[in-house]
Order: sequence, then C-alpha cells, then structure tokens
Amino acid sequence: MKLVAAIDVGGTSIKGALVDSQLRIITTASAPTPQGDVDGSKSIQVISQLLSNLAAPGEINAVGLAVPGSLDEAQGLSRWSGNLQWKNLPIQHLLEEEIKIPVAFGHDVRTGALAELRSGAAQGFKNAIFIPIGTGIAAALIIDGVIRSSDGFAGEIGHVDVGGAFMCVCGKKGCLEAASSALAISNAYAKASGTVGVSSEEVAMLARSGDALAKKIWGDAMQSLAKACQLLITILAPEIIIFGGGLSQAGDSLLSPMQSFLNDSLTFQRVPQFAIAHHGAQAGTIGCAMLALDLLASENTK
Ligand SMILES: [Zn+2]
Repeated sequence: MKLVAAIDVGGTSIKGALVDSQLRIITTASAPTPQGDVDGSKSIQVISQLLSNLAAPGEINAVGLAVPGSLDEAQGLSRWSGNLQWKNLPIQHLLEEEIKIPVAFGHDVRTGALAELRSGAAQGFKNAIFIPIGTGIAAALIIDGVIRSSDGFAGEIGHVDVGGAFMCVCGKKGCLEAASSALAISNAYAKASGTVGVSSEEVAMLARSGDALAKKIWGDAMQSLAKACQLLITILAPEIIIFGGGLSQAGDSLLSPMQSFLNDSLTFQRVPQFAIAHHGAQAGTIGCAMLALDLLASENTK
C-alpha cells in the first residue's frame, strides 16, 4: 500500500502525519514552527526531521505540503504569509530539492476544504464556505461544486475590517483575524485580565461557566466573526458555513452566537446552515494526504 506524508505548516506548529491510501492516519509528529524564518531554510529542516520521525527512508511515496497565506499553487510559491514572514518563497521546490520526494502543494485552508468536500461536512453541497480558525483565519470558497481561489488570492476573510480595536499581522487595525482568532481571543483575555497564557479554549470554558470577563471577550470575538460571515453570506450565498481549526472545538459556543446574530441581521439573503468540520482539526491533514495521493495517481497515469 502506498504511503504519503501530510505536512501542515501553521503559525505555531508544523504538523506531520503518515497516511495510507485509504486515508487512515498511521502516525503523527509535530514540531514548533521556526519563527522569523524568512528564507524557509529552518522550516525545511524541521519538515525533513518530521518526515524521518514518521517513516523509514524510502517508505514515503509523496508529500502533501499545505501552507497558509497567499499562494501561487501552480508555481509552488508562497506569495505572502504574515505569520510565517514568507514573501515570494518557492517553498515547494526548496522542499523537493532537500527531501528528494515528490511534493504536492496547497493552501492549508483549501486542503481542509477538499477533505470536507470529498468526505466531510461539505459533501453533497455545491456552495459551501470552510473557515478554519487557529492562529489565523481564512476561508475556502466552494462555489458551484468547485474550490475557487482566484489565482490563489481569494478567501482572506481574516483581513476584512470588522471594526476591531487590535493591530493585525498584516499591518492594519481592525481585521477579523486580530479580533476572533484563537490567538486574538487569548491575547484579548490577557490584556483585559492581566493573566497571560489563558488559551481560547479556556476562555470559552470560563465563558460557559459564567465568568463575566470571559463572556465579554468571547462574545466580542463571536460578534466580529458573525459580521464577517454576514459579508460572506451576502456576497457568496453559501448553503453551509463550516468552521474548523482549534477554535471549532468550542462547538455550540461558536455555532449558537453565529446563528442568533445572523437570525437578527439577515434580511433577504439565503440563510445557510452552520456546522463544525467533520474532520475537526484533522481536515488539513486529510486534505494534504488527498493532494499527495492525487499526485501519485497522476504520475501513474503519465
Ligand atoms: Zn489583517
């Protein structure tokens, strides 16, 4: 059976998984993302080490690499990533040169959407939006049954102005990502309470248990997220909006504020369903493995 490795580069950690052709995850490994790695060399070393932790030399037939930010997928280029500080970096080619294994390249959010579309919460829908929320926020747009990205530029919902008070990694103030990402929620709580290191999950938990400050911080973050969803609904008319990433583990604490804000603010628009990703925080990994397996299949038919 063919084995592939899925490598998902996030702002905080690089997650690796060894996956078989039935999309079963055999083993996983992760490492912190090198910070300020502008030429990508440290990240490539970390990925290379992860691959040798996942499998013996020669066992991995292809690698699916997913990265965040604005990409040129056809050219294997990271155009810009605020969290990784990459600019016009030919990361696919650089990695391939180092590891000597074929690399399929994709956007972290669109690979997650691919997993949800083929075998998850978007299955059976022609128009869906997948929004993973972790260190950053972006959206994958499934329109008329196809994941659309407008040459890799579209979907950067994390950088629409929702009128927030915080500075964003993109250099502007008020972005959704600076208001509602897992990192932003943790930072906002730290700023308001003076207690550093409380995670967004813990803020959600505190809010559920009635803590007034946590309720305010969580509520503000959800309101900003709902505003961004309203924009997406009005422009793109999805049938379903699927939340993924770490923050989606909040489940109903995330879904019900969306539902109630939008019940009050939509007028003529098509009202979408809301759901949590079927593959959970694994959507990106499964999608990456799908890309790698697609690459192997295309090489076999050449
Ligand atoms: Zn921004």
